[in-house]
Amino acid sequence: MVAGVFALSIVGALLAAGASLVGVAGDPGCDRATTTPCAALTGAVVGAPMNCATLSVSQGFGDTPWEHPHTGIDIVCPPATMVVAVADGVFHRNQGAPIACPYPSGRTGGLGMYGVLNAGGRTYLYGHLEAFAASDGAHVTIGQPLGFEGATGCATGYHLHFEVLEGGRVVNPCPLIPPGYPAPHDPTGLHCWGNAPP
Ligand SMILES: [Zn+2]
Repeated sequence: MVAGVFALSIVGALLAAGASLVGVAGDPGCDRATTTPCAALTGAVVGAPMNCATLSVSQGFGDTPWEHPHTGIDIVCPPATMVVAVADGVFHRNQGAPIACPYPSGRTGGLGMYGVLNAGGRTYLYGHLEAFAASDGAHVTIGQPLGFEGATGCATGYHLHFEVLEGGRVVNPCPLIPPGYPAPHDPTGLHCWGNAPP
């Protein structure tokens, strides 16, 4: 993991956003509360949500030392790096509920200021933003700026919490993002935790 960056989000905010904490549909053996891998998704690979020369992963998808499970991947770039649409879709601005964070203690707000991109039957969440770069309800195209990496809500440092949902359920984003982004995938293609294995 990246030293000093324990980039966390909050399950409560995800529930508020309509996420489910059960396994992936069609894969009864998948339990995201454990390290049992979820089935790979089908469908086109989408774009990268954020890029920079020093890009790293501070927390992978699935069960981690800090969250059980962690419902997305945490990507780290210099503060206020631009985040962009991974697909053509409709963008919405959102704000986490002012409830206490399980971690770090003393903070509130779940995913903080976060973006919601509805595209091609999937929903992509961009958590902990510092500011938005697209208007609420905007029709955006892949690569278009949506906002800027921040540390709002339940976060201990600047990072982007990137999460993917299908039918209201959280799914592993790793099979959907470009190979090698944000770190080499494992041989099954199910994990892209980089230097922060669950
Ligand atoms: Zn996260």
